[in-house]
Amino acid sequence: MARVFNFSAGPAMLPEEVLLQAQEELPDWRGSGLCVAEMSHRGQEFVSIAEQAEADLRELLSVPDDYRVLFLQGGASSQFAMVPMNLLRGSDRAAYLNTGSWSKKAIAEAERYCTVEIAASTEEARFTRAPTQDELTLDPEAAYVHYTPNETIEGVEFPYIPETGDTPLAADMSSILLSRPTEVTRYGVIYAGAQKNLGPAGLTVVIVREDLIGQPLAGTPTMFDYATHVQSDSMYNTPPTYAWYLAGLVFRWIKRQGGLESMAVTNARKAEALYAAIDASGFYANPVELACRSRMNVPFTLADPELDRTFLTKAEATGLVALKGHRSVGGMRASIYNAMPEEGVRALIAFMQEFERKYR
Ligand code: PMP
Repeated sequence: MARVFNFSAGPAMLPEEVLLQAQEELPDWRGSGLCVAEMSHRGQEFVSIAEQAEADLRELLSVPDDYRVLFLQGGASSQFAMVPMNLLRGSDRAAYLNTGSWSKKAIAEAERYCTVEIAASTEEARFTRAPTQDELTLDPEAAYVHYTPNETIEGVEFPYIPETGDTPLAADMSSILLSRPTEVTRYGVIYAGAQKNLGPAGLTVVIVREDLIGQPLAGTPTMFDYATHVQSDSMYNTPPTYAWYLAGLVFRWIKRQGGLESMAVTNARKAEALYAAIDASGFYANPVELACRSRMNVPFTLADPELDRTFLTKAEATGLVALKGHRSVGGMRASIYNAMPEEGVRALIAFMQEFERKYR
């Protein structure tokens, strides 16, 4: 069967080149006689794979030396707890920006460990925009400020990095990390589940500034203390070796495409084309304020929701899959991460136009 264009929010498409390389290396990684999934994580072969992946990631993002890069498990959802456990550092307060479904989850988890101050919320606007810098009420006593630069479900992204003075900024970059250059030095901690732009599910990348490590909340489980993973090069226990390897192949692929600047240009082009098609029609709509529209996740509705099911069935028959919007917002959502080719977006637009002609 031919490969389809997978518009899922995650696990998402992987570059075909990466899949083919993995296929070729599957039974025998470079003459080792082993599949990467069979290797000891402490053996020379896997350690070289792990180190190369970290070096490539550091190079792609220009990660400074005083930041540690961790390859963990537990998903971004575990970071909802690890961030307060590690970043509170004796304080009982943290500030959160409430901008959508994922920040709400981060807030609910943080509330188990501290008082959460909502520095801004766009809930009243039904999460159709990001707050402006002027709207942020920042308490200098907060241990850190947490935000979600790209809300995967609502399709809202921040068009700027919040300025938080000396207060460390924590960012859930699950759905944008590696889709464009990122100024790492503006952040105390960045984390992302891998299953969108980085690789397969099962791996979580954390980039954390050194001075924030080592003062965990009392009672923090060993596995939830960043220091544990820093001291053991992310090998305190068995790491997700195969996911780490595949992510490493994705990092190399991104480098071959010209790095993050080049990813950003292609991603902007894909998003612009899709939003232009939505805006040009009287049939599809996207509710997000123009400046805050996500370049990764494009939610849209049909003029008549009764047609949703037909749209999805026909799209799938055309090889355009996983377009159903998140159950909490309904409608459609096209996630167009790095590995979604421009050809996939063009095919989606052509399908949408054809569908509109037939059914409006
Ligand atoms: N945060 C954001 C912004 C996400 O998009 C997701 C996954 N869709 C998560 C957190 C949860 O990630 P995980 O499934 O890796 O825990």
